[in-house]
This record gives sequence, C-alpha cells and structure tokens, in this order.
Amino acid sequence: MNKVAPAVIVLSQNSVAVARKIISVLPEATLYGLADRTSGVDVSFTNFGETLRELFAQGTPLIGICAAGILIRTLAPLIADKRQEPPVLAVAEDGSAVVPLLGGLNGVNDLARRIAEIMDTQAAITTTGDIRFRTALLSPPPGYYLANPEDAKKFISDLLAGAQVKLEGTAPWLTNSQLPINPDGNLTIRLTEHRVTSTAECLVYHPQTVAIAIAHADVTLDSVQKLLVNTNIAPASIAGIFAPITIAAQPIIHTLAKTYGVPARFFTTNQLDNTLAETIALAATGAGGQLIDQSSQIAIAISPQPIDPNNIGQPQGRLAIIGTGPGSSQWMSPEVKEILKSATDLVGYKTYLDLVGALAAGKQRHESDNREEIARAIMALDLAATGRYVVVVSSGDPGIYAMAAAVFEVLDHHHKPEWNSIDIHVAPGISAMQAAAAAVGAPLGHDFCAISLSDILKPWAIITQRIVAAAQADFVIAFYNPVSKERSWQLADARDILLRYRTPNTPVVLARNLGRPGQSVKVITLDQLAPDVSDMRTVIIVGSSQTRTIKRSNGGVYVYTPRRYK
Ligand code: SAH
Repeated sequence: MNKVAPAVIVLSQNSVAVARKIISVLPEATLYGLADRTSGVDVSFTNFGETLRELFAQGTPLIGICAAGILIRTLAPLIADKRQEPPVLAVAEDGSAVVPLLGGLNGVNDLARRIAEIMDTQAAITTTGDIRFRTALLSPPPGYYLANPEDAKKFISDLLAGAQVKLEGTAPWLTNSQLPINPDGNLTIRLTEHRVTSTAECLVYHPQTVAIAIAHADVTLDSVQKLLVNTNIAPASIAGIFAPITIAAQPIIHTLAKTYGVPARFFTTNQLDNTLAETIALAATGAGGQLIDQSSQIAIAISPQPIDPNNIGQPQGRLAIIGTGPGSSQWMSPEVKEILKSATDLVGYKTYLDLVGALAAGKQRHESDNREEIARAIMALDLAATGRYVVVVSSGDPGIYAMAAAVFEVLDHHHKPEWNSIDIHVAPGISAMQAAAAAVGAPLGHDFCAISLSDILKPWAIITQRIVAAAQADFVIAFYNPVSKERSWQLADARDILLRYRTPNTPVVLARNLGRPGQSVKVITLDQLAPDVSDMRTVIIVGSSQTRTIKRSNGGVYVYTPRRYK
C-alpha cells in the first residue's frame, strides 16, 4: 500500500518545537500551522475544521498538538468506518501526553508509542489486547497483512480469556510480544506467503516477502496471475514489481503495480549483471532470496524478511510540466497543487518558484534564468531519469509561451535513451489572457488568437505577417510579451498595422500583474495604445470589429465580443 504521509498540526507558535521533535522521527510528515499564529511551518492554513476534515478524508494520519476534544469535535461528522479511518492522535503542547484517538486498525498505537518514546513519556494506550500482549493483532506492522480480520475480534477475546496460541512461521513482532505462545495452544497464528484457508481459530498473516520480476514488456497480467495461482502465492504477500529501468514506461508494469497495490521499482543497467528475470528478482530480495519460479520474462523470488520496496532500486522518474495560473494560488488547479505536494524537485525561473509559496517547502529548488529554456528542459529530464519527481514550473498555462514546448523540443532534437523511462505529464493552468478577459467581461467571447510580440525566438517579419493576417481575419488578438526593456518599438508597429484594418476606437484591454500585488486592468482605445502603457507584466487584448463596451454604474466599462452575427 502507498501510505499517506502524516500531518502534524499546530495552532500556536509554542507547539512548533514539539512538532519539530515529532517530525524528527517522522521525516516524511508535513507541518501545518494556523496562519497568523505560527511561522516557519510547511503549510499555513486559515480554517482549522476544513483543513482537518479534508486531510482526514484523504486518509492522512493526523497528529494534533492540541486538546483531544478539539480533534474529536472537528472530526465527529466524518467518523464512520473504523477500517478506513487514518490514525488520529492528540499530543499535549509540552509533549507530556500522547493520546491515540482513532485509527486503531491502522497503526495509531504504534505511532503513539513512537512519538511517546521521543517525548520521553508513555503513550495513553487504551486498547485491551494491545496493553496485555504488547502487540496489535488487528493492525500488524508494515510488511504484514492480516488475511482474516473478521476472525480477529473473537480470537483476541479468547486470548484475553486465557487461551494459548501456537505460532507457525516467524515474525519478530509476534515472538517479541507478550502473547501467550505455546506449541500446544488451541489457537494458531500462521505466517505464510501461500494461499491458505483461514478459520476462526487461525489468524493468517501474509508477510510481504515476494518479489515479482518482469524482464520484458510483452508480459501480460494474465500470465502473472496464472503464475501466482500455480505457485500458490497469496497476492497480499507481493511486496513490489521489479523491472529494468529501460521498460519503466511500459503500461504492463504499472497495471501490475496497480492490480496488486504495490510500488513498481526499477534497476539501472549498472545495478544488474544482466536483465534476466531471475537476476532482477534476486536483486530485489537480496542475498537470502529464493527463486520459486522463473521464465525468461517473469520470475518470483521470496525473501526471508518482508521487503521494503521503497529502499530497492528507484521509482519511475516523473516529469510534470505545470502552469500555476497568472497569479496567486486561487487560480492554481487542484491537480497542480497535488503535483506540487508530491514532487521532489522544482525547476523554473526564480520568480515563478517564489509564486508557488508554501507548496515549495521541503523541495529541492533548481532556479534558472528565464531565458535558458532548453538547458533547463535538459536538466529537468536528466533529473527525472534518476527517479526523481521533477516539476517544471511555468506561470499561466505551461503550453502557452512557456516550458512545455521547450521540453518537447528537447525530447525531439536532443533525445537520450534514458529519458524513455520517464512519465511525462502536462498539467494546464489559467493563461494570462483568460484572467484578463475575466477581469473585464468577455472580450474573447468569439474567435480570437494569441500573438507574442517577442522577436527573440522568431523574426519580426513573421510577427508582422501574423498581425496582418489576424487583423484581416478579424480575430480578437491577445498580445503576450508586448514590451520589454530592450524591446519597445514593436508595440507601436503592431498598433499601426492594426489601425489599417480597425477603427481607432476599437476597445483595448491592458491587464497588468493579474492575480498578483499591484494588479491593474484598464480599457483604452486602439489609437491610445503606446509602448509606455505596457510592460513585460502586461497582457493586451485588442478587440475585433465586433467587440463592444458597456458602461458600468461605477464609471468603469465591461468589454465583450458577441458570438452572434446579425
Ligand atoms: N505561460 C504564460 C505566458 C508566459 S509569456 C501564460 O499562459 O499566461 C509571459 C507574458 O505573459 C508576459 O509578458 C505577459 O504578457 C503575460 N503574463 C503572464 N503573467 C501575467 C500576469 N499575471 N498579468 C499580466 N500578464 C501576464
């Protein structure tokens, strides 16, 4: 299972020190702090209830440095399914008390014990079986799966009533517990990779010790399923799907990982003597592994202990090319926020990385000059090929005068074989012209086009030819990159061309710093359009012959382009 990283929640600056101490043993955790009351946190929130409920619903383990009552009252409406609920626990502001509240089936007591240990205190465990036997049979530690939880309640009651249990197979968490283990016991706990029938008197745990190695993309789900049936391996014992990095982008690998709910992990060619399935399987289990089945394409090996796939090989590299929208986070899509949260590395122009704000916390930043697009794209691909989750950050939409085209240009012209393994994804954003249009009404309501006035990457002759064509076609035109320090005359040229086709009173929208501090949106007419009314942070929309304005009661105007022709 891919576990969600815990959230540590603080409501005041006093609690930050305790929170940091907790995070020292849970390095993947995110620190959430109430805005205005805390600083130096990973994520600031304003609405405690909403934030907590959203995290809970996503299955995030919650560690609140606050009163237990606040957590219970806040989450009460969502408490419904004890199998699904994540661990929730309250920690006293001075670290003196650690109280597990919810998520008994998902390891809250273990989490509480880990936190209590670092706080030098005792976890307030209230689960009877847990206290008596010093282990939670219903929520085994990572690497073990309980096949018949429905039998566990009665099983535990019987143990509490004095029954003895026989252990078949080994697991340190059971042998080191205070369970009444007796070879002649009436009850049995069985540890096995194999499919066995469980009964009310026998709890079955599947250790995640099985590595499935795939050497070739021709493998099918069906053939893997058959092999598991033939070898009688329980799917719950599968720890991971392992393959050479060269086939990391092949859909079958990800279908298998998804089907069995385990990670897919990859070895580079230097990590393997050859790419035979058996070599890959044994690379995953380590020296003590035992091959139980193999063909040229699939191999299954069992390790003596549970395998932690996250420490073996590397994940598939991912490259997400995202657009943050023109301004603040209100215009950032939920998909983009999610990607920023999961990423390991952010690549982009410093100003754009700064715009990402708290979402950039804890990530490696790779800042660069705005003009080094190609070098930046190569760097991002190289980094992703090593198994990192790299995000290339653009403002607005990443496919509109931004990094997405640069990445594909690099893929097309400078291709390296190791880039084949990368999962590349483009996540759209609101472009400046859309935000500008929304600010004044609907100037892009009918056919329109976008033209960049920058002649750094294309000759001015092409730009003028496009302006002429767009004017003749009577498109509304959104001008990007209208003016810069080194380029000021182009905008006056563009206006003069347009005046040959459109009336001087054609509405023009000047939108500057949309969604950012200092936002300004003005409506002028075409004859007033001069270089000094605009800069690199302005997008300009020039109306068509149909574009109209409506006076607003507050003195301003709306601009729109009707969709209907009479
Ligand atoms: N990918 C971006 C465009 C990048 S090109 C997008 O889709 O919006 C840079 C140009 O975009 C700037 O010169 C300006 O014309 C426009 N622009 C980007 N952000 C803007 C903002 N917040 N306000 C106004 N114009 C903006």
